[in-house]
Amino acid sequence: MQFMVQMQPNQLQEKFLISSQKMSSVTESAKPGVVNLLDFDRKGLAAFFVGMGEKPFRATQVLKWIYQEEVTDFDQMTNLSKSLRAYLKQNCTIILPELLIEQVASDGTRKWAIEMNGGNRVESVFIPEEKRGTLCVSSQIGCALACTFCSTARQGFNRNLSVSEIIGQLYVAQQRLGKDVRITNVVMMGMGEPLLNFDNVVAAMNLMMDDFTFGLSKRRVTVSTSGIVPAMNRLNEVCDVSMAVSLHAANDQLRDELVPINQKYPLSELMAACREYARQGPRKHITFEYVMLDGINDSVQDARSLVKLLSNVPSKINLIPFNPFPNSNYLCSSADTIARFKDILHKAGIVTTIRKTRGEDIDAACGQLVGKVKDKSRRHLKLQKMDSSHAA
Ligand code: SAH
Repeated sequence: MQFMVQMQPNQLQEKFLISSQKMSSVTESAKPGVVNLLDFDRKGLAAFFVGMGEKPFRATQVLKWIYQEEVTDFDQMTNLSKSLRAYLKQNCTIILPELLIEQVASDGTRKWAIEMNGGNRVESVFIPEEKRGTLCVSSQIGCALACTFCSTARQGFNRNLSVSEIIGQLYVAQQRLGKDVRITNVVMMGMGEPLLNFDNVVAAMNLMMDDFTFGLSKRRVTVSTSGIVPAMNRLNEVCDVSMAVSLHAANDQLRDELVPINQKYPLSELMAACREYARQGPRKHITFEYVMLDGINDSVQDARSLVKLLSNVPSKINLIPFNPFPNSNYLCSSADTIARFKDILHKAGIVTTIRKTRGEDIDAACGQLVGKVKDKSRRHLKLQKMDSSHAA
């Protein structure tokens, strides 16, 4: 049986997608000692098969079944020997995360709440455009960082997502969208800091780009980071994807406040890591994300400092109008101020775009993803206290 709950205002629809029986229990997870095959990229899967005395090509056979044929029942994997199928049935599993709630915005953006075990939920967002479909994927349950303008940060942190939980977001989203609507791009811009979940995020991105799975082009997979410098340098060596950096300020004093991880990895180190990343491969550039906060980082002087900061990094800039949330303490810059800011960057020869806000009526825009986080960091409690003392 499927639950369906319709919401009327703004043509907004919210649907519960999984059965009442399943909703009463937590999402299934692999039993101890049982291996979820979605936790491997191709290299990892080949090593797994070799480890059990099989040939490495079993990995491509199994990937094709899972990702191209959407077969998750080992009995149906007919090009595997009977004994191998029996072994897999006994020792392995293929468990996908479950879409729990779907919301569809008036502009066609879809947000899914995805149930993870332990009573947590993350959110993924699908943004349809004329020539592409972008899925915004989460990497952690909550976020351990404390960027002051981000609502995910306010929820605190529970844990890293596994490879299966990351690639699973793409799998179940594509299944839900059906064959006629393709996910062509993935941005690791959902909940969490992807480079603090390095190994799992890299394995999941490798899978997304694998010809035997989704075959996404490396230019269409983007990892967004607040600037975890050592991980950016490591990424350069193991995975060739596009990089976006959440910059938001052009001097250390302000960035220390807005993106506190800057206190650990200041702008000089961040810019050096960006230059190095962009140096690999001929057409590479870094996309810098810059949230427009009224009276905070949006002056003419800020724009000029930004031009200077980026003078020796191949850059594109994406200006993001600030998306408000309760008790956020910031306002979005006016349209005129954003246009003036853009103009200065543009005249300095930097390709600059203003991010169109999508899915606003379902809180699916940047920084608005909240899911459900059983906070282990207790940060949400501290913030609640601060909010109530401001209000008093
Ligand atoms: N942790 C990663 C990825 C997640 S956030 C990162 O920091 O890059 C994706 C983008 O949305 C980041 O650029 C983030 O700074 C921005 N963002 C966060 N909160 C926002 C808000 N309220 N309004 C607009 N953009 C926001």
